[in-house]
Amino acid sequence: MLRGLMMDQPLLIASLLEHASENHGDTEVVTRTIEGPIHRYTYAQCNLRAKRLAQALQRIGIHSGDRVATLAWNTHRHLELYYAISGIGAITHTINPRLFIEQILYIIGHAEDRVVFFDINLTPLVERIAAHCPTVSHWVAMTDRDHRPALALANLHCMEDLIEAEDGQLQWPALDEYTASGLCYTSGTTGNPKGVLYHHRSTVLHAYGSALPDVFGVSARDVLMPVVPMFHVNAWGSPYFAPMVGAKLVMPGAAMDPQSLYELFEAEKVTLSAGVPTVWLNLFAWMRQHQRQFSTLRRVVVGGSACPPAMIREFAETYGVDCQHAWGMTEMSPLGTYGQLKAKHLEQSGEAQFAIKQKQGRTLFGVSMKITDDAGNTLPRDGKAFGDLLVRGPWVTRGYFKGEGGDVLRDGWFPTGDVATIDDDGYMAITDRSKDVIKSGGEWISSIDLENIAIAHPAVAEAAAIGVAHPKWDERPLLIVVCKPGADLDRTTLLAFFEGKVAKWWVPDDVLFVAELPHTATGKLLKMALRDQYGGHAWPG
Ligand code: ADP
Repeated sequence: MLRGLMMDQPLLIASLLEHASENHGDTEVVTRTIEGPIHRYTYAQCNLRAKRLAQALQRIGIHSGDRVATLAWNTHRHLELYYAISGIGAITHTINPRLFIEQILYIIGHAEDRVVFFDINLTPLVERIAAHCPTVSHWVAMTDRDHRPALALANLHCMEDLIEAEDGQLQWPALDEYTASGLCYTSGTTGNPKGVLYHHRSTVLHAYGSALPDVFGVSARDVLMPVVPMFHVNAWGSPYFAPMVGAKLVMPGAAMDPQSLYELFEAEKVTLSAGVPTVWLNLFAWMRQHQRQFSTLRRVVVGGSACPPAMIREFAETYGVDCQHAWGMTEMSPLGTYGQLKAKHLEQSGEAQFAIKQKQGRTLFGVSMKITDDAGNTLPRDGKAFGDLLVRGPWVTRGYFKGEGGDVLRDGWFPTGDVATIDDDGYMAITDRSKDVIKSGGEWISSIDLENIAIAHPAVAEAAAIGVAHPKWDERPLLIVVCKPGADLDRTTLLAFFEGKVAKWWVPDDVLFVAELPHTATGKLLKMALRDQYGGHAWPG
């Protein structure tokens, strides 16, 4: 072998912020703080504070390999932590504060977190858990002395005090690029949550891939507001790729209500945003009621659960915003596919383009995909055959933290648990989560397809389709629906709406109208709870 003669430079997370500081030093990071006021500073200031914070972490005894947890919203302080912790070889463990207390305690114990940084509006949560976290030796309130929470904890600090005590004279250490950098637990709809452990190399490569033109397509001319929280798979990588390209970053803090979000979109001239479907449903409802439009927003990335086609349409037709569909998972850092059109599609009709945009998209370089049948045979890329979706690539996990779940790979591929089709242009469409498909008479019905049709009805706010035991067909689809406020809808009208849109035997056998649907901590429909609650549903007749 003749070795090439290029430099050995590891791909390190801290270099992203260092790059932003040097080349986009005056580009802003704007935050709606938990304390209330808007905070704004630059990437240069962010980098300096991250270094001071890194020194503070070292001072309180954090070493390479230690896990440092955050219970926090999207803010500049959380951003500083992302860089300070991983910058010294420790591991940023983001915890979703919306999880059940038992899950949070399990995760902190499993990760053996040494320090927990928390936002002050989560003080009541910390009060409940602190006594039950034997591995945690420091609690840090992400605020200044004036807002220090009244908590009777011996080892309680304020983040601003820690930063103030340091001078920022720190060179980021030259770590091995395979050093673990981040830890994120899957929401664990079955069993205990499992930890996915990212490293510097996977994180930087994922940022490169995500920023590509046919993916997030983000640049130094963009203003990016990640509405997706930094505890939901690293806000889909935005805290890494925004500094990488020098995009202005707008952080919405804990105020996730539609009015607060809308005000930030407008005041900060946001051009690009990302979030799960429920966020946009709520925002649309508010904007409709208050007759508002976006003046700068051009593009929104929707993922985490299937984006209802009606939402893609509403974004385009009512708000002039291009809604793009993305798919991924915690185990994939998270990005796997992105729904951008190709040149040939631009010559096609609006409806043909719309059909492609509904799919979850094509893979970005770095991720390979295949679909297989039950025997493990690879299925054709014809857009019709559907099977288990498997992936591999440098930002896909090869096993969970501490070996949980054993050997998860199948011949070197990671089984996603999703069922999908792939067409000859490489566009993947999720038909279902494998545990959510409705098995009727030996055939499969896609619960997502049924939900998408229901939600396209003007009176429907949200819908879930689940398989319920049936004496003749094994399972039949039951549709559970939340109507829009004031809307009037009955079973017969809604079921008639399915006619001609799916095969007759796909039409749900019954509809239940409810006030609200249960969601997971990341905003997905909690199908398991619905199956528990309605599994005994008595079919009409
Ligand atoms: P968890 O797996 O813990 O619920 P993740 O955020 O990792 O949390 O969820 C990944 C799963 O979410 C995917 O495997 C898929 O089922 C679903 N998902 C993500 N994005 C989409 C999408 N655009 N369309 C349909 N399902 C999606």
